[in-house]
Amino acid sequence: MSASKKKILIIEDEPQIVLGLTDALEFEGFEVVSADSGKVGVSLARQGLPDAIILDLMLPDANGFVVCEQIRQLDRLIPIIMLTARSSEADKIRGLEAGADDYVTKPFSIGELIARIRAIFRRTTRPTEQVEVFDVGRAKVSLAAHTVTVGKTVHQLSFYEVGLMRLLHERAGQPVSRDEILVKVWGIDASPSNRTVDNFIVKLRKKIEKKPDKPEHILTVYGFGYKLVP
Ligand code: CA
Repeated sequence: MSASKKKILIIEDEPQIVLGLTDALEFEGFEVVSADSGKVGVSLARQGLPDAIILDLMLPDANGFVVCEQIRQLDRLIPIIMLTARSSEADKIRGLEAGADDYVTKPFSIGELIARIRAIFRRTTRPTEQVEVFDVGRAKVSLAAHTVTVGKTVHQLSFYEVGLMRLLHERAGQPVSRDEILVKVWGIDASPSNRTVDNFIVKLRKKIEKKPDKPEHILTVYGFGYKLVP
């Protein structure tokens, strides 16, 4: 087995899904480990951090939100894609708040999930030519360190928050559409929903804006998308 293979941890108790995903991911050249419970999943993540995690929301011993939070305590940045049979907006928001970066609603296509995973690693390994540290109002953003610093407070940025911030900064002063954000940050068009972008904007505003409900830097362009005014 090549040491450079990316390792993916699947935490899911439905054997057919684990089997199907494992076959497809191994075919794509990934190393796959799987756990059929939250407890085993967290323990595997603790033994050796994978490069990405696919996490089912409905596990026999715990719900995925709790598992997600436990993994986030081990590592703030590892990409986590949540599998959910629920499609309610409240569950999606709760998943994102628990630290998931993305979610796929069952039944999902394995091809779509693989495409998302490949997009994650394309971006992770992309050479960075952009400025990695810049100011947004009173906040200092470091893309390399995945942090936003305001005074003495340091906020961590998740994987997709970094991608979103990078894109908005590259295009500072110009409106960027939600569709373009989805394609360039999430790597797939039309899915996940536009609401995903909005939820991440809310999270970024909480870290950057003095008054998150009256933003001065990450502005909404109604009916279109967002604009960064540093
Ligand atoms: Ca399940």
